Amino acid sequence: MHHFHYSGGRLFCEGVDLAEIASAVGTPCYVYSSATLVRHARVIADAFSGQDVLIAFSVKANGNLAVLATLAQEGCGADVVSGGELVRARRAGIPASKIVFSGVGKTAAEMDYALWEGIHQFNVESAAELRLLSQVASAKGKTAKIALRVNPDVAAGGHPNISTGKAGDKFGVPWAEAEALYAEAARLPCIEAVGVDVHIGSQIGDLVPMRAAFEKVVALALRLREQGHDIRRIDVGGGLGIPYKEGDAPPPPTAYAAMIADVTKGLGFELILEPGRVIAGNAGVMLTTALYEKQAPDRTFLIVDAGMNDLIRPALYGAHHDILPLAEPAAGQGRRTYDVVGPICESTDKFATAREMPEVKAGDRLAFMSAGAYGAVLSSSYNARYLVPEVLVDGDRYEIVRRRPTFDEMVGLEKVPDWLTMTA
Ligand code: PLP
Repeated sequence: MHHFHYSGGRLFCEGVDLAEIASAVGTPCYVYSSATLVRHARVIADAFSGQDVLIAFSVKANGNLAVLATLAQEGCGADVVSGGELVRARRAGIPASKIVFSGVGKTAAEMDYALWEGIHQFNVESAAELRLLSQVASAKGKTAKIALRVNPDVAAGGHPNISTGKAGDKFGVPWAEAEALYAEAARLPCIEAVGVDVHIGSQIGDLVPMRAAFEKVVALALRLREQGHDIRRIDVGGGLGIPYKEGDAPPPPTAYAAMIADVTKGLGFELILEPGRVIAGNAGVMLTTALYEKQAPDRTFLIVDAGMNDLIRPALYGAHHDILPLAEPAAGQGRRTYDVVGPICESTDKFATAREMPEVKAGDRLAFMSAGAYGAVLSSSYNARYLVPEVLVDGDRYEIVRRRPTFDEMVGLEKVPDWLTMTA
């Protein structure tokens, strides 16, 4: 459920007419609904009520400070995968004690910073990382609480590029090596193994592979306890899918929570969740303006002012986004079939192929729905385009929470060396 709806023939985000934002901010731009973010965080918290759980929002899905601050107010922690995301989470007011640090390539400097902050847990993904963390923690005189992220060899996820739990994936410690690595962890100085972590993919529409992975992880955790390790946390990662189009029916958070309760019940584990998409995905849209229609022999292109640099999911994963006009189509309005494309000089700069939708004229404004997760975070200034702005709506007010940079700001980090300017 989200807070984007037609009212009086216009598409609103909560109490704000999206056309008003498009005019004031310009397109392309992202718009997020506070009410939807809060609702989704609460739906998950409610589903897990009665379970000992830390909801660590996955910052990679949407790292905007205002979005993170909204979720911080709801009591969420954060799952970060870089020192930069850790800074973001802290600046947004998320306490270090609610932050877990995942990712296969943590540097010594990032470990050092996270130890200084005193984060809740490192999710360690390899033997080499574990040994380096021990060295960094020893040098600081701190103890790093860790979970090993294990690779359960279970396939899941809405697309091969977002499946992370198969044996050949780069993520996690190979299943067969996990117990030996916990034994090594117990011997290493300044390392305290407190949990087991798993994350098998994203946009998962079926609880069966999740349950299979979690059952393996819980069995491993119990074996580790028998071996004398004080394993008290299970981090189940993120991955729950969301509806992107009519007919999509991912498992509801209540079913997900009930499955996890069933797998872990009575075992005294503290749970950590790392939801990203399920909280932010349907809480955001990207607004764009139609520029041109172009007729090819076999198709009609609708060229819009947003490109794959602003929203890369269709190009990267073949992802679907519903496209709604900001002015509600009148009953009986004509329908057309378009390939919806952006202005970027790449053939993959395509948002939809043969999409049947209400007829669009140049200047019409459109919303790409369900763009709140893995949208603006993946944007770039490719083709020297302005980094896309972001707006947060709260009731009938809104604020630009990332403004469009100036051209000088965009090139401000660059320099033409003296030896080139001297010849001018
Ligand atoms: N945790 C980890 C380690 C991830 O890699 C991801 C994303 O793939 C997430 C959590 C969030 O996943 P999702 O947005 O599908 O909930």
